[in-house]
Amino acid sequence: MIVFFNTLSRKKEIFKPIEEGVVKMYTCGPTVYDFAHIGNFRAYVFEDLLHRFLEYAGYRVIRVMNITDIDDKTIAGAIKENVPLHQYTEKYINAFIQDMECLRLKKATYFPRATQHIKEMVSLIKTLLLKGYAYEKDGSIYFRISSFPSYGKLSHYDFDKIVSARTDSDEYEKEQARDFALWKGTKDEPFFWNTEIGKGRPGWHIECSAMSMKYLGETFDIHTGGVDNIFPHHENEIAQSEAATGKKFVNYWLHCAHLLVNGEKMSKSKGNFYTLRDLLNKGYDPLAIRYLLMSAHYRDPLNFSEKSLKQAENTVKHLHAFYQRVSFALTIKGEPDPVIEKSLQTSSNEFFSALADDLNISAAIASIFKLMRNINESFESGRLTAKNAEKILKFLNRINEVLAIFETSREQLSLDIMQLIRERERARKEKNYQLADRLRKEIADKGIFLEDTPYGTRWIRK
Ligand code: AMP
Ligand code: ZN
Repeated sequence: MIVFFNTLSRKKEIFKPIEEGVVKMYTCGPTVYDFAHIGNFRAYVFEDLLHRFLEYAGYRVIRVMNITDIDDKTIAGAIKENVPLHQYTEKYINAFIQDMECLRLKKATYFPRATQHIKEMVSLIKTLLLKGYAYEKDGSIYFRISSFPSYGKLSHYDFDKIVSARTDSDEYEKEQARDFALWKGTKDEPFFWNTEIGKGRPGWHIECSAMSMKYLGETFDIHTGGVDNIFPHHENEIAQSEAATGKKFVNYWLHCAHLLVNGEKMSKSKGNFYTLRDLLNKGYDPLAIRYLLMSAHYRDPLNFSEKSLKQAENTVKHLHAFYQRVSFALTIKGEPDPVIEKSLQTSSNEFFSALADDLNISAAIASIFKLMRNINESFESGRLTAKNAEKILKFLNRINEVLAIFETSREQLSLDIMQLIRERERARKEKNYQLADRLRKEIADKGIFLEDTPYGTRWIRK
């Protein structure tokens, strides 16, 4: 059984997809006017964990991540550089895909771009106009919130109070201050489309309604984003979509808390941000960044600091060294240690049930660390054998499909070199440094350089 906290009900609910065995999921993607910062990547890492866990649980995941390539910021950027809009955004789309790969984020099934789905947005707006949920004013088209009584059900705001305080003003062209733009009529902007509903460009919210429903259907399973997306973006998506179709838009809404810096949201406008590139240039390991962003529960705010990143880097090194150590054990003959057999089973159950409980990553990781302690003990007391090691590596590879944190794809050494490394480790432990040095040289002659770290011996091919 899997449960997720649904922002809509503010409760943990049992997860049941519409179609058995398949999960349809939509993720609000980047606005491509600049490099994404690691605050954005906290949201994408959370969504990646969700995606990977659902696959681990046996579901086929059909996922959409939109690319917002038209909005005030992309337009301003293209004007400033005096280039076509698509040329300006292409650079940031490519950078985003590279960053995703670097952080081992799984690709979505579809990455639709707003500028390539104008037709779908226009058609949705036409339906809203026809049904009386939208109106035109001075060339722009707005959603009439008063026509959608359940507006506010996601954010749980009391809009009557908010509105009465703001609608007296005459400065708004709309019927009501809270109404939002579906279509922005163009006066003298260089980027626009000539359509049946006029000359202009789409509002931001309509993009996600049109593209999610195009690829996932009128009702789908999961919609995600950061908490800042709940209002107004996701509230507006619900209003537009449900008004147009008369059906429930999304069954489960999952939102992650923010990445903070000194207690404040990391954001472009505050200037308190790091891009992934900033951190890579400082020499940090991308897997440590992934680990740090993933290691706190997604609904808890996470404070970023370089100190915590350094700690994450140590943990990741520790995990790599552990993986190598188990690989070395592939050369040890003998019967399997029954303690390890049992603790593998326990760990496997604990890992799954922790993540099935609203992605409780801390408990999932704790179960892995417990297993590691048992394995190290077994290794050090000479009980661990190749038969255990094979099963352990299989298990680590499997959980790595969810965590994507172990360096499993790394080239493996041949068994004879691993045997030599193990013999050298034993010699060192027995303080037989002469033998250890001789073995180190023998290994070096085979092209493998050894480095002794507090986490164990690591090897590098020369
Ligand atoms: P944006 O490009 O601003 O639309 O943001 C893209 C995604 O990143 C959205 O899901 C936001 O909710 C999320 N996001 C932005 N800043 C942060 C932050 N500091 N922590 C976590 N998520 C964030
Ligand atoms: Zn969106």
